[in-house]
Amino acid sequence: PGDENVKKLIAVLAFPFATHASPLLSLVQRLSPAVPEARFIFFNTAKSNNAIFLEDDKRWDSIRPYNVSDGTPENYVSSGSPMEPIENFAKATPENFRTAMETVVEETGMGFSCIITDAFYWFAADMAQELQAPWVAFWTAGPRSVLLHLDTDLIRGILKLSRIDGKMLDFLPGFSGICATDIPPEITCGDLNSPMPRMLHKMGLMLPKATAVAINSFEEIDTAMVNLTNSRFKKFLNIGPLVLTLPDLKISDSEGCLQWLDKQKQESVAYISFGSTVMPPPHELEALAEALETSGFHFIWSIRGNPEEKLPKGFLERTKDKGIVVSWAPQLKILQHEATGAFITHCGWNSVLESIVGGVPMICRAFFGDQRLNMRTIENVWGVGTGIGDGEITKDGAMKALELVLSSEEGQYMRQKLEDIRKLAFDAVQSHGSSTANFETLTAVITK
Ligand code: UDP
Repeated sequence: PGDENVKKLIAVLAFPFATHASPLLSLVQRLSPAVPEARFIFFNTAKSNNAIFLEDDKRWDSIRPYNVSDGTPENYVSSGSPMEPIENFAKATPENFRTAMETVVEETGMGFSCIITDAFYWFAADMAQELQAPWVAFWTAGPRSVLLHLDTDLIRGILKLSRIDGKMLDFLPGFSGICATDIPPEITCGDLNSPMPRMLHKMGLMLPKATAVAINSFEEIDTAMVNLTNSRFKKFLNIGPLVLTLPDLKISDSEGCLQWLDKQKQESVAYISFGSTVMPPPHELEALAEALETSGFHFIWSIRGNPEEKLPKGFLERTKDKGIVVSWAPQLKILQHEATGAFITHCGWNSVLESIVGGVPMICRAFFGDQRLNMRTIENVWGVGTGIGDGEITKDGAMKALELVLSSEEGQYMRQKLEDIRKLAFDAVQSHGSSTANFETLTAVITK
């Protein structure tokens, strides 16, 4: 709306790391036409805002990016640890958000009528109370991991953290057959007082206070979770997969991945990506490259940085007729292409959902956060993928997994099961689908 037609100001607080801010922006893009009188202020770091707000996209005039401090100390010299920017940012919250929100209130003369935040932001419970406004928390991963964070104290108490190897989560309803080592490490290991474990612990305590928790998933994906999640929150709203509910965005394909796929045989290509944050160690990259070269399967490999430095010497030249290596791929389109037959993935939730929507079985190498839990769900609950070796990528493990998914009956069987789940995903976002109904409930929460 033009300034004079803005009747409501809604604050959106994004988490600027991994793939969190972009699905939150998708949610807000979906909400904005449903709440035309509202202006959404998207509070996020400059770096993340620059990455997700597309220059030429004027469709969402009612969503305004607003930069907040990323918490980098003055004269800061990076140690190179990928956790450091996250920890600096976590330390700057919630003051960085509060300062920015106060400035907007002063500038506009309007108060916020609702706050929508990444679910990590436990402090939004207090903000919402001060504002007397609803708090909508958005969980960007799957339903299983959010339940585990709610039960952090219980899990820590029962597992006795010194030795979790071999212990099972059978004491939690819905989690039989899941090992203690599969759950997000922030619950069970490492320095539990460092910023991320602390933030997730507090989140588990505060999230039940949220007016609604929205999740980028759909109820039918994991029916065992529906009653469990519904009973723990005021409103738990599966509104995804969001990728199926937004207009087709312009996805750049400067390296011609899709044209190349057009020339490949059906279900014959392995697509490889470990998301926006993970980089497997050099020996695993080497093992995977050797597996691809020896097995001869065709592939698209998305790898950030300079592939010449990351992959074995001569690999690119030797495999140029078999595959392409790019620094960023049009993943969603690749996974929906009929030539794509396997996805070697770190099991980030967005990737998992996109693979389901594309009907592509997964070969899993999980690293941190919820990824191992997603891997177990893919393998043991849905049966639509396989692990790789003993957790790490080895040449032999990768070859066996590729063989299994791309040229065995079991791979076909996984594809059939995926087809069922895929159909449920599309049904959920139809006009009478569960995600559509939940989205309407969410809109009502925001407009009230
Ligand atoms: N992605 C992409 N091109 C790439 C690699 C990743 O478009 O070359 C997108 C992918 O489609 C997904 C997101 O990046 O939407 C990765 O999200 P995920 O939750 O899987 O992992 P994270 O980045 O949070 O580790």
